[in-house]
Amino acid sequence: MLMALARTWAVALNGIAGHLVAVEADLAAGLPGTMVIGMGDAAVTQARDRVRAAVMNSGQKWPDRRITLALSPAALPKRGAGYDMALAVAVLAAAGVVPAATAGESVLIGELGLDGQVRPVRGVLPALLGARAMGREQAIVPAANLAEAALATGMTVWGVSSLRDLIASFKGEVQALIPGVAAQRQDDMGGPDLAEVLGQPEARLALEFAAAGGHHLAMIGPPGAGKTMLATRLPGVLPPLDDEQALEVTAVHSVAGMLDDDTPLVTRPPFINPHHSASLAAVVGGGSAHIRPGSVSQAHHGVLFLDEAAEFRPTVLDALRQPMESGAVLLARASGAVRYPARFQLILASNPCPCAAAKDIDCTCASGVRRRYLGRLSGPLMDRIDIRVDLAALDPMTLTTVGAVGESSSVVGDRVLLARDRSALRWKGTPWRTSAEVPGAVVRRSWRPDRREADLLDQAVRSGRLTGRGYDRVLRLALTAADLFGRERPSIADLATALALRCGEAL
Ligand SMILES: [Zn+2]
Repeated sequence: MLMALARTWAVALNGIAGHLVAVEADLAAGLPGTMVIGMGDAAVTQARDRVRAAVMNSGQKWPDRRITLALSPAALPKRGAGYDMALAVAVLAAAGVVPAATAGESVLIGELGLDGQVRPVRGVLPALLGARAMGREQAIVPAANLAEAALATGMTVWGVSSLRDLIASFKGEVQALIPGVAAQRQDDMGGPDLAEVLGQPEARLALEFAAAGGHHLAMIGPPGAGKTMLATRLPGVLPPLDDEQALEVTAVHSVAGMLDDDTPLVTRPPFINPHHSASLAAVVGGGSAHIRPGSVSQAHHGVLFLDEAAEFRPTVLDALRQPMESGAVLLARASGAVRYPARFQLILASNPCPCAAAKDIDCTCASGVRRRYLGRLSGPLMDRIDIRVDLAALDPMTLTTVGAVGESSSVVGDRVLLARDRSALRWKGTPWRTSAEVPGAVVRRSWRPDRREADLLDQAVRSGRLTGRGYDRVLRLALTAADLFGRERPSIADLATALALRCGEAL
């Protein structure tokens, strides 16, 4: 009569990688009690009491047996409350309340309230992508996560609101499961437009280069020069995310709890701007109870904007170097390291000095203070930034007389797209798509400056304008110029433009 053993399926997340977890319930004679083995953090151990209350408040009896719940593989770290539904159903299937075969068909993800309501959890999309990769074809998730779950195409997904509904559906009494429908991709082209940025032709050009080549960019200038306005318009001139990137970014944002319930798929490059007082954990990722992806991962395949960059803690600025090199962050944990992707484009903005005067002539800072301020940004971090642009304060007079209405984001975005296509063609058959990604040695092999071009570069090095590391950056920028202007090979004019962009000089 009593089915003593039953198995359901759940998913463990490590970063955004999902691994299938088998949940087994064994009901044996002996002293009544419930034991959970193969579980990780405190939240999962507390699941025992939560699941028991949820089952009883859903009109079911908690088996008067010695219950062993086992999650395997045991070595896999299991975090969070997303296992509740799989645990509850395993017990109910072992007790013969629901058919064991039905209970084992679908991956079950969801947290249970004490009242038996199914609560949404983070990370549903990456969990399902992991389950799908391991051959699972069906899943049941919290109703509030259904739109996100439906992004796992090729899987049949249903949403459920309460354990009571789930039990009734499994028993065939009612059909209370909500079928998931894969949403059509909607590319939202809204957002702030470059046409609203007045003046600053050099900064606009720098932004276009940054977009076309994927270069990191630093903007130095007084308050009101338009640094933030420009930075916020970068995502609007970047190409939309391709399908694979969109899923990856959506997976990270799912784990970070940032998704829109109704239109979860992220199709535009994200724009993430942490405040300069942000902690190391907030920027890089971490946290004690829940491990959250930090700003660097939230900005994956998008833009990380640090306004007032010199005001950030030095430890935070230093911590950016590792993800800038590797495109990922590794967060050490007692239960093992957690990896999140973090391939972002960095945009720094800073005032030239702490007093932040609108005009240099009004600056009240001692010269040493002024020098040290930007010095906080210099060194290894600035070495990784290809473009530096110095913005002057906007003169309202010139603006009204020139009536400078700049090009719109769609015009600039079209040029960027063309340049990206040329760049992809240039690096066809390599792992790189933009010139910013290409290693220095490869850049130097890809084209050899002629005599005049070499002279220009040598002069810059001799005069101290350019460092050894900066040399490769200039070559990369020259390649981006060639891509933007539709040239196979950079011209000497492209090289001069690249040099000016690298050194923060007037064009
Ligand atoms: Zn000052």
